[in-house]
Amino acid sequence: MEDIASSITDLIGRTPLLRLQSSSAELLAKLEFLNPGGSVKDRAALAIVEDAERRHLLKKGSVLVDATSGNTGIALAMVAASKGYGCVVSMPRVCTNVERYALIKAYGGVVLLSEPNEGAEGMLRLAKAAADQLGERAYYTAQFSNPCNAEAHLNGTGPELWRQCGGKLDAVVLGAGTGGTASGITRALRALASENGVEPPRIIVVEPELSRTLSGGVHHNGHGVTGIGAGVPLAFVCNKDETDEGQRVQVDEFRSCSLADALDEARAVSMRDGVLAGPSSGAALRVARDVASELGEGKRVVVILPSAGERYLAHPLFDAHRRSAEAE
Ligand code: PMP
Repeated sequence: MEDIASSITDLIGRTPLLRLQSSSAELLAKLEFLNPGGSVKDRAALAIVEDAERRHLLKKGSVLVDATSGNTGIALAMVAASKGYGCVVSMPRVCTNVERYALIKAYGGVVLLSEPNEGAEGMLRLAKAAADQLGERAYYTAQFSNPCNAEAHLNGTGPELWRQCGGKLDAVVLGAGTGGTASGITRALRALASENGVEPPRIIVVEPELSRTLSGGVHHNGHGVTGIGAGVPLAFVCNKDETDEGQRVQVDEFRSCSLADALDEARAVSMRDGVLAGPSSGAALRVARDVASELGEGKRVVVILPSAGERYLAHPLFDAHRRSAEAE
């Protein structure tokens, strides 16, 4: 029987769950970098665009516009290319963004660079200005507030995890950029656990040590754990001490991870399990390993790996290998 996809977007989601080596609790990694655009953000981009199509907000020549740390830009540019739309995204001007800049361009997107010291606010301002300039042609996808972002995980990633684990999972560890993944997964797993009369898994959100906005700590724009720790209040995840309200969920715990530990972990898992993790995956994994040793044998910890290391060749993650290649 033939098995052929008609659009690259048909291949988004249904990512594998891989058992990593662990000497304590079972540690399972959801490999979101196996989405066709290389990151978890393919899911949100597709859900956002399909929602706009259903509401007849997009036509030929429409341009998707958003602000992004990179992965949403790549995902939107890929979805736009396959569906015949344009794409304009803003992203901070930092040299470690070179791969993401090139990838967005490769899909035919336009990139506007914001000043890094202006943080998320600077790039949001730039994206909004671009949308204003494009007028009616623009569709501002608003990943930080568009409910479809979190719904992609409420309807996709969360139920997938439940099925893949046969309903047995004790903790989920993940980072938050917009918080869409955290909100959707948390709501899906809490609802499924309640339907099945079991305890929901503990949801642990990881923040960069230098950007602990949700748990009430410091924020520095240059924290280096690309994709998480935007430094703004989130529409999808409550700050510590706030209470659940609709799509804005209170997770069970916040933990932090330093850039050095995130990168060590990302480098280690490539060599131990053959999984090439990016910086935010490394941060989540470092915390997931701590949680696994605390919970111990017989328990199961799931970690979300949003994007792969290959996307970060210009990032300090690859400093040593870049230097040795240059010295050859
Ligand atoms: N890790 C990376 C590398 C990302 O690009 C993102 C999205 N910015 C995330 C994690 C977090 O995903 P979300 O926006 O769903 O919180």
